[in-house]
Amino acid sequence: MINPTPPMIGVSSSTSKNKAGSILCSVGQAYIQAIQRAGGIPLIIPVGIDPSNLQSLTSRLDGVLFTGGGDIRPQYYGGENHPKVSGLDLERDRLEFELLKPALEMDLPLLAICRGIQVLNVGLGGTLYTHIQDQLPGAIKHDWYPDFPRDRIAHTVSVVQESKLHYILGESEVSVNSLHHQGIEKLGHGLKPVATAPDGLVEAVEVMDARFALGVQWHPECLPDSIPMQRLFKAFVDACIPQSA
Ligand code: MN
Repeated sequence: MINPTPPMIGVSSSTSKNKAGSILCSVGQAYIQAIQRAGGIPLIIPVGIDPSNLQSLTSRLDGVLFTGGGDIRPQYYGGENHPKVSGLDLERDRLEFELLKPALEMDLPLLAICRGIQVLNVGLGGTLYTHIQDQLPGAIKHDWYPDFPRDRIAHTVSVVQESKLHYILGESEVSVNSLHHQGIEKLGHGLKPVATAPDGLVEAVEVMDARFALGVQWHPECLPDSIPMQRLFKAFVDACIPQSA
């Protein structure tokens, strides 16, 4: 069999500023490496892209990775304001919601990580805890950042049997890192919860009826030595491989 064409995977970016004060489009290297390790070609989708160009770009992609980052503006989902809400990037919010809609309509494979699962949930009409610690009774610590290594194992998640995630990971329980202070409160339309933390927080969702549309609240790209997390990226990139005509 000939090697399949490596799929081109759009990676959502964020805005940052360098020391000289210039505004940059940024993507963590770990995402780029994880996609390439699994056989895909990463392509950064810049914050600031025109909506018409975004549409044209999306139609040429084989898959989309929604990356982690700051909080979504709570107004998008009627969320309770909280002093811990941080890292708002309104242009990024707009870009990612504009990207999500056609991606779902085209049934493009998508993997949504950390902030990404929250974008997926809010984009489908769900809501978020704006600060888990104050709003989810009995919550464990999920915000192992910024003073901890990003690959620090923070808690387990139990994976729902017979879910796509379970099939991919090959495990009913996996150990994950946890670098978030927000999380899914009410599920968006058409989402199925497929993994939960020990305190009951939803940590992974699947879009029902999609070819491959999966969100995880942890950061698999920061766990390159975890075999289940390697399997997750491999399954995503494989799902993105263009079907030959
Ligand atoms: Mn967590």
